[in-house]
Amino acid sequence: MSELLKTEAIVLRKLDYGDSSRIIHFFTEEFGKLTAIIKGARSSKSKLGLILDSFNYVQIVLYKKETRDIQIVSDVDLLNHFGVIKEDFQRMQYASAIVELLSNLVSENEAHKKLFIGTVKALEILNHPLRDPKLFFTKYLIFFIKEIGYAISIDKCSQCETLINTNQTVGFNYDSGIICSDCKSDRLVHLELEKELFNLFICLNHKQNEIKYKQRDLDRIIRMLEKFLKYNIQEFKGLKSLELL
Ligand SMILES: [Zn+2]
Repeated sequence: MSELLKTEAIVLRKLDYGDSSRIIHFFTEEFGKLTAIIKGARSSKSKLGLILDSFNYVQIVLYKKETRDIQIVSDVDLLNHFGVIKEDFQRMQYASAIVELLSNLVSENEAHKKLFIGTVKALEILNHPLRDPKLFFTKYLIFFIKEIGYAISIDKCSQCETLINTNQTVGFNYDSGIICSDCKSDRLVHLELEKELFNLFICLNHKQNEIKYKQRDLDRIIRMLEKFLKYNIQEFKGLKSLELL
C-alpha cells in the first residue's frame, strides 16, 4: 500500500525520463534523501519545469511505498528558488557544493531533520546579498561534518585527549583531526594551524556572529575540511563545485 504524504524538500538533481517525465533526487525533511518520478513534468503545460531546478526549496506531495526504489510525486509547490544565489557565480558554486555534499555523503531513506533545517537556513543565508558566501559555507561545512557523524574535536587533542592550549600552534592530521603541540613532534602532521587560524576555526565552530577573518584563511579551512572528509570517507572524491575557486 502506498501512502499520500506531504513534505518539504530541496531539489538535488534532475534527470529526463522517457518523453515527458523527470526523475528527481530530493533531500526531504521527513524522509531524508529519496528518488522520485514526476510524470509529465517536462510538458509545456506543466508549471513544474522551472520549479524543479537544482537547490530549489519546495513542498512535495508523494505516494510513498517502502518497497519501491523510486517514489511517485504528484504535486510540487515552490517555497524559494533563491534568486540572489542564481545571479551570482560564487554563491552558485557554494550552493552547488552543498548539493554535492548531500548527494554524495548522505545515505538514502534516512530521515535527518536537523541537517535538513540547517541546509535550508544555509541556502537562505547564501541568498542574502550582504552576507559573505564563503564565511557561511565554511560554517555549513563544519555543521555538515558534525551531522554526518565525523565531528572534529576542538577542545581536546585527538591523540592524547588533553585540553588544547589555544595560544599555541597546533597540528592537523587529515585522518584524526587536531593534534596538540606536545604530540606534534612524533605524530604525522599534515598541516600546521598557527594560533590565529586555529582560533578562527574555534570561532567558526561556535555560534558567534562577529568573526574577524581573512578570505585566505577561510579557503585554508575549507580545503582542510575537504581533505578530512576525503581521508575519512573513501568514496568521497572532493568538491567539484569548488575546483574553479
Ligand atoms: Zn596530544
